[in-house]
Amino acid sequence: MSDRPTMNIPFGRPWITDEDREAVARVLAGHILTHGPVCHEFEEAFAGYVGGGRAVTLSSCTAGMHMYYMHLGVGPGDEVIVPAMSHVATVHAVEVTGAKPVFVDCRTDTGNIDPVLVEDAVSPATKAISVVHYQGMPADMDGIMAIAERRGLPVMEDCAVGIGASWDGTKVGLFGDAGCFSFYPSKQITTGEGGMLLAKDPRIAEHILKIRGFHYDKSLHERTIPGIYDVDGLGLNYRMSEMQAALGLSQLHRVDTILGIRRRNFDGLKEHLSSVGGIRILEADHPKAVQSHYLMTVILEGKAAERRNDVLAMLKKRGVGTGVHYPHPLPRLQYYRAKYGYDPARFPNAETIADRSINLPVGPHVDAAALDYIAAQLKTILKAIG
Ligand SMILES: *Cc1c(COP(=O)(O)O)cnc(C)c1O
Repeated sequence: MSDRPTMNIPFGRPWITDEDREAVARVLAGHILTHGPVCHEFEEAFAGYVGGGRAVTLSSCTAGMHMYYMHLGVGPGDEVIVPAMSHVATVHAVEVTGAKPVFVDCRTDTGNIDPVLVEDAVSPATKAISVVHYQGMPADMDGIMAIAERRGLPVMEDCAVGIGASWDGTKVGLFGDAGCFSFYPSKQITTGEGGMLLAKDPRIAEHILKIRGFHYDKSLHERTIPGIYDVDGLGLNYRMSEMQAALGLSQLHRVDTILGIRRRNFDGLKEHLSSVGGIRILEADHPKAVQSHYLMTVILEGKAAERRNDVLAMLKKRGVGTGVHYPHPLPRLQYYRAKYGYDPARFPNAETIADRSINLPVGPHVDAAALDYIAAQLKTILKAIG
């Protein structure tokens, strides 16, 4: 018997087609590499896909979240509600403005914030509520928007991996005042690096466009005399290039196919794992929720829960790529712990997911044989641990 793995399945692998390559090559054959028509086309198509709002192409999802807080004028003395379980970008975007993040624990069924805890976290200093659609599972937008409306607070949706997810028939990104999406290579669609901000109110999109380009008072196309402009606010360069937009637009054309494959893989893996005891799968099973499948989060229970990192190492040895999203609740990360202190008793659910979960791949690179293999390896390992 050999210990050599018979398969080698990476956690993620971008799916780039000939059409994608041709779309990027067409941009490179021309002379416009930025400030061009392809970004505009991608924005229109993206808003069309989500079903409304004005979309703005960006250099990353992080850039979108940062700019939205710049737009609000959030700064020192202000507070922003932040989910304890998310990508660190969700909190860094607040922290970089000088405002204080106020963390809220998540639910254990989906990893999404609990609206009841959001209400408790609101104070007179609160300037905004941020919410993440954890691993593509839509958060309870009825509960969150009700609190936001009662308190008169704007909502920022971190939709980095939420493309295509919906709540009560509306796609995520259209509930809050801003929805920020990511096109990092591991995400459902990619531009290499890149992001999109979707704003319901076109005035927000207009302001974001200015912040995105150094806050010039006139865009490149609005200037009647070249080089004559003024700067009437604080801005950065958070633009997307035309090559990235061409790749994103080409990927967006097949997003439903991509999401369909991911759903099929998720359902297949879930079926394979249904007979395995001692694990629990995070899933949005609320009747109003339609999930966008990014990965599968498996919470280990019983003995295996204490040995999560061993399970990860054993899966790696057997050629199964895994991920941990995320290794710490945000307030437990060294920077935030040192600055604001950390009380684990306030984040029991985020701690459970951070310390006891493993994420399995469901991307288009995973075929039926790979699903079989992943499930079989996990079963064997859990059996060995007992
Ligand atoms: C990937 C991710 C981000 C960061 O996106 P970038 O485009 O890399 O800035 C933010 N939030 C969540 C939930 C993510 O998964």
